[in-house]
Amino acid sequence: MSIDIQDVSKNFGDFKALEEIRLSIKKGELVALLGPSGSGKTSLLRIIAGLESATKGSIHFNGNDMTNVNAVSRQVGFVFQHYALFSHMTVADNISYGLRVRPRKKRPSKNEIKQKVDELLGLVKLDGLQKRYPSQLSGGQRQRVALARALAVQPEVLLLDEPFGALDAKVRKELRRWLRNLHNQFDVTSIFVTHDQEEAMDVADRIVVMNQGRIEQIGTPDEVYENPNSPFVFDFLGNVNLFKGRVKEGNLKSGTITLRTSGSTKHEDKDVVGYIRPHQMQLHQSNIEGSFPIKISHIQPVGPIVFIEAEKLDEDETIDIELPKNEFTELGLKLGDVVYSKPKHVHVFSPEEFSI
Ligand code: ATP
Repeated sequence: MSIDIQDVSKNFGDFKALEEIRLSIKKGELVALLGPSGSGKTSLLRIIAGLESATKGSIHFNGNDMTNVNAVSRQVGFVFQHYALFSHMTVADNISYGLRVRPRKKRPSKNEIKQKVDELLGLVKLDGLQKRYPSQLSGGQRQRVALARALAVQPEVLLLDEPFGALDAKVRKELRRWLRNLHNQFDVTSIFVTHDQEEAMDVADRIVVMNQGRIEQIGTPDEVYENPNSPFVFDFLGNVNLFKGRVKEGNLKSGTITLRTSGSTKHEDKDVVGYIRPHQMQLHQSNIEGSFPIKISHIQPVGPIVFIEAEKLDEDETIDIELPKNEFTELGLKLGDVVYSKPKHVHVFSPEEFSI
């Protein structure tokens, strides 16, 4: 099912929770709504589900206007952060709930329901637990039951609101990989809300970055990480080194450091801030053109990456660098070494681009 969100705004009294949201999601996509607390993610998800009405704008499923269609008739699967399982029902009854409450004509037989429950229990790896009650399950198991329940009615759209937010880091990671597989298997269109950039990057086909009721950027994880279109997206999606300065003849002059920019004349003669991701800070043993000296002050190898902190010489500031382990070994770096850094790419923003 494709989903089209056309100019959706939502006001709560005078407060604008969403402003002119425009978003098209293709059938089969898994999209993450990512943003800080209060940015409007849940409001948007609830409007797509039909649990909340938009103040302005419209929602379309497969080109059909669903704006005034109620939540039940939209036939979406919904999973909340706090499992919301029926505590007085067994796992099997929770999973089959949506099938059992169907009108008589559309209701599958008892046997068909049992088969479906068994199949789903296998998929969510809870075989043998059908007779347990939610209180007898771990948090991760409960959340898998919630997903199985949402999938039982074979929705074409699956909406998830911080589905793994209440779980510990290891279980979360396992469950999100598993959500990705399930999404592919069921051929659904899924939208999930998260404020965790790592989670969004790990599973989503595309990320919608939200800030104060607006969409800041839409793109693949790679696009939003490598080419953020605003300082907000840069900051929200990962670590960053900042170089304040002024652009002169295409070069960013920041204290004693000169960095080559993209060459666009847009920022010429303006006060700007240069943004550089740690993995774009390349290191060299000698002073090549466009590089500046740094002194290594901290080295932390983690798996295939070495995290380095270094001081800018002549300035009381540090920068973060991420090097693949083989590059680190080739350079033979140790604490206190002075080497030269040349960024692969500098993103420059002027004050008027600092949206909010
Ligand atoms: P979180 O990550 O904290 O859940 P969110 O990005 O999902 O945040 P929303 O829950 O959509 O944000 O809320 C967006 C804004 O709208 C917030 O400032 C919130 O206080 C406000 N809001 C949400 N629901 C209501 C309501 N029913 N009445 C008034 N204001 C509301």
